[in-house]
Formats: sequence, C-alpha cells, structure tokens
Amino acid sequence: MNTVLDIHGLEVAYGKVEALRGLGLTVGEGEIVALLGNNGAGKSTTVSAISGVVRSRAGSVTAFGENITAAPPWSIVERGIVHVPEGRRIFSRLTVHENLQLGGYTVPDTRSIDRRIEQVYDLFPRMAERRAQQGGTLSGGEQQMLAIGRAMVAGPRLIMLDEPSMGLAPLVVAQVMDAIVAINRAGTSVLLIEQNARAALKIAHRGYVIDSGRVTVTGSAAELRADPHVVEAYLGA
Ligand code: ATP
Repeated sequence: MNTVLDIHGLEVAYGKVEALRGLGLTVGEGEIVALLGNNGAGKSTTVSAISGVVRSRAGSVTAFGENITAAPPWSIVERGIVHVPEGRRIFSRLTVHENLQLGGYTVPDTRSIDRRIEQVYDLFPRMAERRAQQGGTLSGGEQQMLAIGRAMVAGPRLIMLDEPSMGLAPLVVAQVMDAIVAINRAGTSVLLIEQNARAALKIAHRGYVIDSGRVTVTGSAAELRADPHVVEAYLGA
C-alpha cells in the first residue's frame, strides 16, 4: 500500500502549552484512519499542523513522499490534502450549489468543478434535491454533508474530517459515516478525527488513540474495539 501521509515525532506548542509531544501516524492509500481522543488530546492540532496552519517545532510531515512540514497551507491544498474543519463553516446565505462551487476555488478548470459537483450530487442525492436552498436552512446533518461535498469539489486525495459527528443525532451520525464510506470507496483516503470512537471505529480500517499529544494505542479498528483500555476510556460499557 502506498503511504499518503507519514508523520514522525511531531511537536507543537502554543506558548507554554505542549499540544503535541512526539506524535507519529500514517495513512495509507485508500484507508480510513480514525484519530481518537478526549477533549484537548491534540486531535485538532494534529490536523492544523498537517494543513500548515500551525507550525511544528520538531518532527516531520510527509505527504505522497514529499516533506511538507514547512509548506504553506495553499501548497498543501494544492497537493490534494483538504481539511473539513470542526463546526462545518458553510456559507449560510449562499445556496447549496453556490457553496459547492466555492469548494472549487483552487481548481482552474471550471468543467472539472462542474463534473465534481455532479459527482457530489450523485453521492448525496439530498444535496441535489436542495441545490437551490440556502445553506443556513439545512439541518445539521445536511450541513455536514454539504461541508464534506464542498471539500470533495477540490478533488482531494486525502480528506481530513474534524469531528463530523459533533452535535448530530445518532441516526444522522450514521448517515454522515455512510457518506464518508462512500467517498472513501470512490477513491479518497480519509483521516477521521472523532471523539465519537464508537461511530468512527465502525467505518475505520485502523485507528490511533491520542492522549496529551502522544499516541497511546494503535491498531486495526477491530483491535481497538477489543482493547480493554479503549473500551473503558472511549467506548463505555
Ligand atoms: P477538542 O476535541 O476539544 O478540540 P483536541 O483533541 O482537538 O480537542 P486540541 O484542540 O488540538 O485538542 O488542543 C490540544 C491542546 O492545545 C489543549 O490543551 C488546548 O487547550 C491547547 N490549545 C489548542 N489551541 C490552542 C491555542 N490556539 N492556544 C493555546 N492553546 C491551545
């Protein structure tokens, strides 16, 4: 399997707060990899460091075989790594279709933007039905689908989803997870950041549990589901 993302010894600090203390992980081509951990464990910081939004003080991030540790955010997007941030951040006054068009702002060829928007509509028929509706009037789950769809219009090779289940009812979480499986099957590797370990481990191939900026447990999704520490700390009884 080709390696999409390879992180070694990553250290990030915000002033005196050491958010990442030597974090390492990999994502292989075609994988869904879950990054699990409690509030403040360092999940969002990991994604921000990969995206080039925060700078690391040690360690390396390699994507598709190239060192991107110090690369600017735009060049990381250009390499096909797209981040769907926590809280969705869609444009509430723009329609679904306009939101999707904005996902193509780095794509010079308008025909490929239109083609990818049609692919998003095939993947998420609900978005096609609502293409003229204002983003702000969508339900929480629909807004999450729109945020994922918008990222897909950029044509990513790796999509990083930050807490896509946040604030959603269990049935809607299941729909969002199905959507993630669909985009993965269509060929996009996924780094899935979740506090909802149960939902994430249902769809992930592998996972990492992080605590205080370090990986504490890693393995296949089945191994993590059977790990007593993971069960006790993250999966409940
Ligand atoms: P959550 O799920 O709550 O977002 P997380 O696992 O994503 O948690 P991070 O947001 O990466 O965790 O935070 C890791 C640590 O870094 C925490 O102790 C947090 O308080 C701290 N931190 C994050 N962002 C900043 C910042 N901009 N300034 C100072 N400290 C920060």
